[in-house]
Amino acid sequence: MKRHTNIALFVPHAGCPHQCSFCNQKSISGSVKPLEPEEIDAAVQVALVGNSKGMEIAFFGGSFTAIEYNYMCSLLERAAKYIDNDRITGIRISTRPDAVDDEICKTLKFYGVTAAELGAQSMDDKVLRLNRRGHTSGDVVNASERIKAHGISLGLQMMTGLYGGSDEESVYTAKRLIELEPETVRIYPTIVLESTPLAELYKEGKYKPQSLDEAVSLCAGLIPMFDRAGITVIRLGLHSGGGVEEGYLAGPYHPSFRELCDGEIYYRNILDLIKKNNAPKGRFELYAAPEYISQIKGQKKKNIKRLEDLGYYCTVITRPGMKRYEVRLG
Ligand code: SF4
Repeated sequence: MKRHTNIALFVPHAGCPHQCSFCNQKSISGSVKPLEPEEIDAAVQVALVGNSKGMEIAFFGGSFTAIEYNYMCSLLERAAKYIDNDRITGIRISTRPDAVDDEICKTLKFYGVTAAELGAQSMDDKVLRLNRRGHTSGDVVNASERIKAHGISLGLQMMTGLYGGSDEESVYTAKRLIELEPETVRIYPTIVLESTPLAELYKEGKYKPQSLDEAVSLCAGLIPMFDRAGITVIRLGLHSGGGVEEGYLAGPYHPSFRELCDGEIYYRNILDLIKKNNAPKGRFELYAAPEYISQIKGQKKKNIKRLEDLGYYCTVITRPGMKRYEVRLG
């Protein structure tokens, strides 16, 4: 999949009639004032200073298609004038599954939206209800079908460790999302932010967040599911900066969450390889793609140390062209 750089613009809480258990848009976006069209000009000008090509203007953070229609169109129109199919190739939006229909898709298409991401979060209706999402798994299916029918690239977002959820529920959600054939997926372990209903449940002892190890272990199982289905996981865990550290109360937040998950996947793949090949203990050479060398070794060489604890002394040799997560014995 072609990688895009995003010119990210946050539309905080604008028009959102909900209060999902985990959401405090103020903490996530670091901003509460409505986005002005002029801010799009400023962000684009900054992005155009570099030589990047293939960038997308991305409206994140709120329920984009649920905001007031004329306001939404004014933002899209301002962004659309920068699409030149070279340096800026399109617009991404993220929104709620119950705020998408044919008319909305036509509007998005008209203004040059190339990708729409839905906050599915879970495909278990009980978990959606407990977390006050205000939509059902059926809404996720309908919205996904509408988006794809209008030729817009579909992205889906899911969360792990939700209130009332479980590892099994996350695996079930991942399977259901794969059936919807999105092009991209984002996975967000649930973080408890101050001033949210989840923070109250946490303080009352009614909600226990995943530990960092639990979230890494679960996500290291989910990523290969999407990978095998040809779906790119473009984001794991909340972005650092933008206020999340300030609003953080509890949960598996780590600024390099993806690195941790990728390291765990590599570790599991190396163990599988050793097992399948009945490799004897001692020194061995391992081939892998050069761009993933730090993930193969793990953070602070965790994987190398864990292998050594099992009696395996690994030298990593890079081989350009090998796939992500692929390992071979020398
Ligand atoms: S997660 Fe989305 S739908 Fe829920 S309260 Fe936040 S902005 Fe609204």
